Amino acid sequence: MSQVISIHKASSKGCTDASPLVERGQREVFCGLTGIIWLHRKIQDAFFLVVGSRTCAHLIQSAAGVMIFAEPRFGTAIIDERDLAGLADANEELDRVVNQLLSRRPEIKLLFLVGSCPSEVIKLDLSRAASRLSVQHSPAVRVLNYSGSGIETTFTQGEDACLASMVPVMPSAPDDAEPELMIVGTLADVVEDQFVRILNHMGIERIRFFPPRRAQDQVPIGANTRLLLAQPFLGDTARLLQARGASLLPAPFPLGIEGTTAWLQSAATDFGVSKERFDAAVAGPMSRAKTALSKAKLQLEGKSIFFFPDSQLEIPLARFLSREMGMKLLEVGTPYLHRQHMAMELAMLPEGTFLSEGQHVENQLDRCRAFHPDMVVCGLGLANPLESEGMTTKWAIELVFTPIQGYDQAGDLAELFTRPLVRRMRLAA
Ligand code: SF4
Repeated sequence: MSQVISIHKASSKGCTDASPLVERGQREVFCGLTGIIWLHRKIQDAFFLVVGSRTCAHLIQSAAGVMIFAEPRFGTAIIDERDLAGLADANEELDRVVNQLLSRRPEIKLLFLVGSCPSEVIKLDLSRAASRLSVQHSPAVRVLNYSGSGIETTFTQGEDACLASMVPVMPSAPDDAEPELMIVGTLADVVEDQFVRILNHMGIERIRFFPPRRAQDQVPIGANTRLLLAQPFLGDTARLLQARGASLLPAPFPLGIEGTTAWLQSAATDFGVSKERFDAAVAGPMSRAKTALSKAKLQLEGKSIFFFPDSQLEIPLARFLSREMGMKLLEVGTPYLHRQHMAMELAMLPEGTFLSEGQHVENQLDRCRAFHPDMVVCGLGLANPLESEGMTTKWAIELVFTPIQGYDQAGDLAELFTRPLVRRMRLAA
């Protein structure tokens, strides 16, 4: 542990003051509806009703195709051509669909009305609809709304919008409440359980996760709340939680050994955990992670990588791959750079790393082709054409769907990058 921390302390300012290339042009990313795929698995008594078109329904169905439940916790209220032409009362139709759904599915305790491009185009006021339906179905069901439309959101911003919509209805913690750690951002249950074990080992017992596994488990918020971000794409959610009195702990993101250690250290420092206790809690999982990473490093060291902007995980991933796996960063693209949340990540990136923010896909493809990297991280739409040009790609979406946070997932995270390289080597053999 001491060695890992000393790497961080000894590093220069890295990319702290770097100015990214800012591009505003055509983007190749999913819309925020995609977040429903992992959110509906997390909040088990919630339902996501997309108010959208058949295109939106197809997106969700095909992205979630492999995970369909007998009774899925998402659906689409289709706005058809009559609605788009303003011929039907879309509100009446929406109320009818919601009433039907809630009477058939009494286990639903939280219903999200999720806005889309079509609902925005016809200016359907979903926040009024949510208030109206909440009154009607209270106290059994709470109805909230957020936008996942491609006009307003990209990919992981859907989770930010969803969590942000929950903040105003969180109960207030009393002023004299004991300090409590709130880990913010969707994590797999298995990852949450591992973090709880490690934090408990340090003596930190009061831990909450947001979003909770059950919407009925209301998470109180107040001046006693310490926020630790588990995902890098939660700018609005963090801002609203801070406005409710919570304080944000400065930390990188829990990817790889170094990120996980510094992330846990941030909580440990705030809760006054001694060095001995911290070391004892992380020693076992850290040593397992070191073993797992040493194998992957043999494949990845010295290989070059290029990131197209997609999930906002790019900077933490680049930091992990360069510092712990020895990969060379050619370009690290991010859809949006939140300097405060990324401060420690930027400080750890090698000085001189080429950063870009936003996207002009044609320009970026030109840069990528000129570099001809060993690996490209990009969205599904770009992966196939680049593969056909002889490049090895990794789908950014997989990095969001797969549990990659924490020590016990560090090996799986590295393997997500070794697998495409191995596959291409086999094809070439
Ligand atoms: S919300 Fe917009 S971008 Fe997303 S699937 Fe629907 S129409 Fe397409």
